[in-house]
Amino acid sequence: MRIVCRSGAGARPRIKAPPRVRQNGRVTLYRDEGVVLRTQKLGEADRIVTVLTRRGGRIRAAAKGVRKTKSRFGARLEPFTHVDLQLYERRSLDLITQAETLRPYGEHLVTDYPRYTSGTAMLETAEKLTSEEGEPALRQFLLLVGGLRTLAERGHDPRLVLDAYLLRSLSVAGWAPALDECCRCGTRGGLRGFAIASGGAVCARCRQPGAATPAPPTFALMLALLRGDWEYADGSDPRHRVECSGLVAAYLQWHLEHGIRSLRHVEREGDRPRVVAPARAPAPGGDLPNDPGYPGYPDDPGYPDDPGYPDDQGYPGDRGHPDGAGYRAGPGDSDDTIDRERV
Ligand SMILES: [Zn+2]
Repeated sequence: MRIVCRSGAGARPRIKAPPRVRQNGRVTLYRDEGVVLRTQKLGEADRIVTVLTRRGGRIRAAAKGVRKTKSRFGARLEPFTHVDLQLYERRSLDLITQAETLRPYGEHLVTDYPRYTSGTAMLETAEKLTSEEGEPALRQFLLLVGGLRTLAERGHDPRLVLDAYLLRSLSVAGWAPALDECCRCGTRGGLRGFAIASGGAVCARCRQPGAATPAPPTFALMLALLRGDWEYADGSDPRHRVECSGLVAAYLQWHLEHGIRSLRHVEREGDRPRVVAPARAPAPGGDLPNDPGYPGYPDDPGYPDDPGYPDDQGYPGDRGHPDGAGYRAGPGDSDDTIDRERV
């Protein structure tokens, strides 16, 4: 069966990331690793798989026969799975020819609703914040892997892990909120409000009517999550966590053109964060800067107890991910919708 790219991506300029292994004069195979963000049906038995890769950024590739029950690698290409891929480069969608599971994070999330929904919101955010297909986004990839691992290890409140991920991924995308100084006048201390449209915390003088007025410990919690201070975050009061989640969600929704649908499903035991987002912002001038060099990030040791990426052996076992438990599409999130967004 010939696989046709429905979105007409063949006509779009494609930015391909090196390195590629050219195996002979006619066939170009290459390897990359990545986290599966979502899958879409393609024809009778195939899928389009969206992956945030280490070297090549966010890519979409075709996987043939993966919806057949006897598929060798169908289960390895489910959302949340960290996979090592071999792909065959084509004019339209590249073809996945091999997939090996590195870490089946989905297995560890699917049985725990708050963790599962937090992870789903992370996948959707990762896709939205890597707006350009094929544009390398190493730091977004590392953040996502670190976030999913922390979520799966169950050491922290899943909503805290999600909020830390959202704050950091926004920062990598160039949208770090001001948290320890007024985003309008730069005053440190005496911060009274959080003005989403202005970019974060505001002092009493700059605060305009209608701006949220979080408790000071909420600012401290957001700062701790951004910097990876888990000792502070784990000891925080539930009231401030709820307030923090509401502000982070509203800030994220303001900056992303289509919002994060799956945030609606995120729950924690007890309180539900109330998200009151102002009217949405205009898109900030097109594409995101991919790696703006957010100060304070490069030396961030990451999530606590993170053994580091390269030597991490991941989780034992490779049983894949139960079929159908992946990325939950929202209403209207059909293949057509997705394709339209790309045009
Ligand atoms: Zn001010």
